[in-house]
Amino acid sequence: MAETGGYNAFEMARSQFDRIADLIDLDQGARDFLRTPMREYHFTIPVRMDDGSMKVFQGFRVQHNDARGPSKGGIRFHPQETIDTVRALSMWMTWKCAVVDIPLGGGKGGVICDPHNLSMREQESICRGFVRQLARNIGPLSDVPAPDVMTNAQHMLWMLDEYEAIHGGRYPGVITGKPVGMGGSLGRTQATGYGVVYTLREALKELDIRPADTTASVQGFGNVAQYAIELYNQIGGTVVCVSCWDQKDQCPYAFRRKEGIDLEGLRSITDPFGGIETAKAREQGYEVIPGDEWIEQDVDILIPSALENSITADNVEKIGKRVKIVAEGANGPTTPEADNALHARGIHVIPDFLANAGGVTCSYFEQVQSNMNYYWEMDEVLGKLDVKMTSAYVAVSELARRRDLYMRDAAYVVSINRVVEACRERGWV
Ligand code: NAD
Repeated sequence: MAETGGYNAFEMARSQFDRIADLIDLDQGARDFLRTPMREYHFTIPVRMDDGSMKVFQGFRVQHNDARGPSKGGIRFHPQETIDTVRALSMWMTWKCAVVDIPLGGGKGGVICDPHNLSMREQESICRGFVRQLARNIGPLSDVPAPDVMTNAQHMLWMLDEYEAIHGGRYPGVITGKPVGMGGSLGRTQATGYGVVYTLREALKELDIRPADTTASVQGFGNVAQYAIELYNQIGGTVVCVSCWDQKDQCPYAFRRKEGIDLEGLRSITDPFGGIETAKAREQGYEVIPGDEWIEQDVDILIPSALENSITADNVEKIGKRVKIVAEGANGPTTPEADNALHARGIHVIPDFLANAGGVTCSYFEQVQSNMNYYWEMDEVLGKLDVKMTSAYVAVSELARRRDLYMRDAAYVVSINRVVEACRERGWV
């Protein structure tokens, strides 16, 4: 991921921004301000390993823009994490919060580490060390982290505990994605994947396609992918292929079953990182094919839900003729060249920062509940999430139709205008 093959996520995020800045004729001051994160922190996290040695991990936190509210964004643990990936993701968070119109800005964090090779105690030390370095730079009113790739509710609770130990009080609003019962919101686990499908359902309505008549291929089988598949199945769709990273063989595999995958069956043979056991999948009747082939399947819908940089100039031509919709569950899965090709083919793209905004929307609900110390039932959370995602989708698609814009461009126009307005009103640009 990250910067392999000349790909740089931050350059991509900036080039997307520059294009829209041209389109809306944004003045130079606002452009310069929004092209660069407002603040970033780089720090080391020394950890005593289980074997007695000391290992030093590199951590980052980037606050791209907080004109509309406290910065918000996940913390990723990944061996190939880079500052530019974190910068790009923080910028996308700004647009994401703005497109669903929640009062938050954009931030992101990361630690270069591989949790596959770390004990729980070592991971706890990284979490606590991360917060020790940032305790004065994050907070319920300034910057609110959350889980992301390879981090979960347990990591968030360790981070919360460290923050509260340092500040001497209870601050449940400093972090989201906490365990339910410890300040977490019901529905947070489902929120991103379900959100992808709320927007997908609206897109199918717009294109006059019945969900039950569609099939999909999904890249990834982690948090986002599993819950997207769950709700897509519930609205009648059939997933015929999923892919995931194989830790043992260090390559991705895809798992195909023409009559549709059995979500619960696959979940039962999946590790906590979204890795499916290949041999057991064969026993369950799956054809195991090279991971890259998830994109070539003869389906109506593609749902990239793994990592960035997965639909590129090299593989975009392999997308099957039947594909009508790409719902981007992952952040930054499509490179600008590939995006041009999708646009030219008339594929209806639901851009990442709209499609996967369910997670941050539910995080916002979690903050609201934490601040009230009053927690909603699941139906209330999911009902409110559906309303937010649906109205965001409708606002973007109406603008796209009215001004004859590509969906990604329309989503950018909506969010950049909202952020620029907040910066202007504050007198920043
Ligand atoms: P996760 O760690 O739970 O799952 C990632 C999945 O991708 C795993 O199944 C892994 O095996 C698979 N994968 C990794 N490399 C792969 C490859 N080369 N080919 C195929 N599969 C591969 O992560 P997640 O939380 O589901 O996040 C997935 C994406 O969604 C990321 O881009 C993340 O930034 C984005 N996202 C997540 C959330 C959230 O709430 N979790 C919110 C918004 C966006």
